[in-house]
Amino acid sequence: MLFETLCDYYDRLEKITGKIEMIKILADLFKRSEADEIDKIAYLTVGELWPDYLGHPELGIAERMALRAISKTTGLTIERLEKMLKSLGDLGKVAEKAIMMKKIQALLIQPLTVKEIYEKFVKIAHASGPGSQDLKLRILTGLLVSAKPIEARYIIRIALGQLRLGVGEMTILDALAEAFLRTKENREIIERAYNKAPDIGYIAKVVALEGEEGLRKIKIEPGRPIRPMLAERLQDPSEILKKMGGVCAAEWKFDGERSQIHKKGDKIFIFSRRLENITYQYPDVVEYAKKYIKANEAIVEGEIVAIDPETGEMRPFQELMHRKRKYDIHKVMEEYPVRVFLFDIMYVDGEELLDHPYPERRKRLEEIIVKNDWLVLAQSKIVNSVEELEKFFLEAIAAGCEGLVIKSINDDSIYQAGARGWLWIKYKRDYKSEMADTVDLVVVGAFAGKGRRAGTYGALLLAAYNPDKDVFETVCKVGSGFTDADLAQLPNLLKPYIVDKKPVRVISDLEPDYWIEPKLVMEVIGAELTLSPVHTAARDLVKQRLGKDAGIAIRFPRFLRWRTDKSPEDATTPKELLEMYLSQLKSIEK
Ligand code: ATP
Repeated sequence: MLFETLCDYYDRLEKITGKIEMIKILADLFKRSEADEIDKIAYLTVGELWPDYLGHPELGIAERMALRAISKTTGLTIERLEKMLKSLGDLGKVAEKAIMMKKIQALLIQPLTVKEIYEKFVKIAHASGPGSQDLKLRILTGLLVSAKPIEARYIIRIALGQLRLGVGEMTILDALAEAFLRTKENREIIERAYNKAPDIGYIAKVVALEGEEGLRKIKIEPGRPIRPMLAERLQDPSEILKKMGGVCAAEWKFDGERSQIHKKGDKIFIFSRRLENITYQYPDVVEYAKKYIKANEAIVEGEIVAIDPETGEMRPFQELMHRKRKYDIHKVMEEYPVRVFLFDIMYVDGEELLDHPYPERRKRLEEIIVKNDWLVLAQSKIVNSVEELEKFFLEAIAAGCEGLVIKSINDDSIYQAGARGWLWIKYKRDYKSEMADTVDLVVVGAFAGKGRRAGTYGALLLAAYNPDKDVFETVCKVGSGFTDADLAQLPNLLKPYIVDKKPVRVISDLEPDYWIEPKLVMEVIGAELTLSPVHTAARDLVKQRLGKDAGIAIRFPRFLRWRTDKSPEDATTPKELLEMYLSQLKSIEK
């Protein structure tokens, strides 16, 4: 495909306002893509070059370098280009206009293809060491020299990591289903395949080449993460037991970092909850996995927890922050030891275990772990009464856990990759007089700060993620809970994501001063959940369940911390908010 054709699609995507239209345009784009380029188109469209688990590409091209490349190509001075940037507000548009002004168009030059663009950006991402800046500048200039104006717009945006089409991976799945599969159920098949193999390019290629058959044949592979199973939440132990059918496995809910540990011969991979490769942070865990997993290949899951080196007690999640550095990790490792509490197994020596009931998986897990002090099994107990549940809960809290994760042990208790469901229910400490639990919301807008907050933001507009519709629905405006340092950081943090119109997947009645592409997730607590006519979260559910025209909102929300371990699609859902609202009503009635 010519790059110009892809740019025309991107241009169309920028102009539309609805999601249905977005899916249609993308489906059309995929139908026109060749099988050997569809993966590249999928990655580029979501602003990546490869699947997330291989790491977010660091192109290392700053505004300054982009300006130099445009200047070299067009002969316009940097000062002139900077002036244009002030009035146009976006370097992509500056590049487009500058090329247009260049007059002598590159008529005799071979047109750019998508493959060529992709390969050049991969080269840029891999360039490192001395001379790499020059190399990057040369490649970028080379592309611009061959570019038509519209191509220049998107080359620069890709280079700066600012494509911002508002297309998420779920939207790509919708579009692929529309392009290559027939019935609605097939959307589920593609999602299931993606949950097992979360690589949007790979999925695109398989469905384009082999359709539904190909998707069904996708296998788990050690070294490629699986999307994690997620839990619902409830505050009332008797309700939890009822949901589970009277008997269940109760497990300590550790306050650490969720990790998927893959063993492939003597190679070990560790993936975070967001499926990022975090192996480098835990050389000790790599050794434990090599030593204590009795299988040639396995995928197990657990929580990595910081341990007090003096007492052996568990320490809070924040302590693991020390491990987030690339240097001196061996030194830090000794100061901040960790223990891994395993709670699931998805694969062992060629056998996929996702569809096996939980008791069977737990047994398999127990069988392959050699007894040791560092890679251990999560404390688990079969319970069938509220008293037992409460007792085990208190033990967990006393040991430094957050509460319990209650798990179904019925025949249908499969590992639901990528889904939040009632097979797992988290039961956490009550935060008294406040909302029963914190929520994770996505920044979708910002309001300019006044007075003391001039120069930064006064409040941020936050949204929940609705996975059924693949949209973000607003919940509240948060302005408190930020320290001065948090506030000072906000402009830089938000800058890369500011867009000039409402992102297509954001559903909002409020009009903030700045729209923000949904990327950043924060943890928020509030006084209580309320119904509100101005917010859009769970509106349809509220109408159905309560017969009211309102959304769910949070009263007096407070920022707690950024959740960089979560992607926007991992945010709290409107359905969860409604459940929380209903259980809040019940506790008031009591
Ligand atoms: P939270 O924000 O409450 O930690 P979350 O949104 O990150 O939850 P959930 O799926 O809602 O993720 O809650 C389950 C989380 O609890 C898991 O992601 C995992 O990190 C953690 N956890 C701790 N102990 C266990 C356990 N024994 N079994 C399953 N998950 C556990």
